[in-house]
Amino acid sequence: MKIIFIFIDGLGIGEADALKNPCVNAKINLFNIFQTDLFPKKLPYDGIAGAIDAQLGAPGIPQSATGQTALFTGINAVQYIGSHLSGFPNEKLRILLEHHSIFNQFNKMGKQPCFLNAYRPLFFEKGPDAIIRYLSVTSVMNWKAGLHFFNFDELAAEQSIYHDFTNLELMKRGYKIPLFTAQKAGAILAGQSQNYDLCLYEYFKTDWAGHAQNLSEAVALLVHLEKFIITLLQHIDLSETLVVITSDHGNIEDLSLKTHTTNPVPLILWGKGKEILLDKTDSLVDITPGLVNIVNGFES
Ligand SMILES: [Zn+2]
Repeated sequence: MKIIFIFIDGLGIGEADALKNPCVNAKINLFNIFQTDLFPKKLPYDGIAGAIDAQLGAPGIPQSATGQTALFTGINAVQYIGSHLSGFPNEKLRILLEHHSIFNQFNKMGKQPCFLNAYRPLFFEKGPDAIIRYLSVTSVMNWKAGLHFFNFDELAAEQSIYHDFTNLELMKRGYKIPLFTAQKAGAILAGQSQNYDLCLYEYFKTDWAGHAQNLSEAVALLVHLEKFIITLLQHIDLSETLVVITSDHGNIEDLSLKTHTTNPVPLILWGKGKEILLDKTDSLVDITPGLVNIVNGFES
């Protein structure tokens, strides 16, 4: 089986209040998941969604470094370091990622994982060691698992996608990379996912949009992101593929706040094994072990 994991930063489950939640919009078809819904909630393309805990038993507002480490290791990183940590992982979290990441665990099972996001030339010029304090959770785990980092030649060759999936951010910076439509990017993810057992893609403009607090821009962003996901769903065989979408903490679902939220985050699933994963997942820490079990369960 194949697993496609789309990690969306800063997407929580909020109130069905159109004044502050961009998910309350007639153009939204996948992310219209609200606190008052009955879970599991049915979604288009035979998908299901649940609400999972991102607070991880600690007071304060959930943050990226600890939330993502918990999500991608199955270890409660907040309890491990004693608080929520924003931004990039510190040394303690990097060590957890080195030894326990989902990439590491798939490698040990003899499975081939992949991180599909393209990296800028500066990353390759400097090397990860030189910029270790500015490496994201996904960068650290890809590096420490010894996996390939996609570059801009591979991006231009349609083997990879950039974090905004259109390359518009790169064109603005003067890079000569062709513009991808949401449909093109979704088709690239679908195609590449068939070359790996686990294909991870990270999208974080949702978190930026949450901090920016602009409702109409946030709606447009989510509509565009849904177009990318729907194209992916139309291009893959869901009888052999599990599509997983989740987040590290809330943010964009409540634009009345400039900060992240303490809301639960959605676990959105399509395809093979979706009920099994949803059934066993209460919080961020359940997802990596759940995926490992599903792969083992279906192939042993
Ligand atoms: Zn943020």
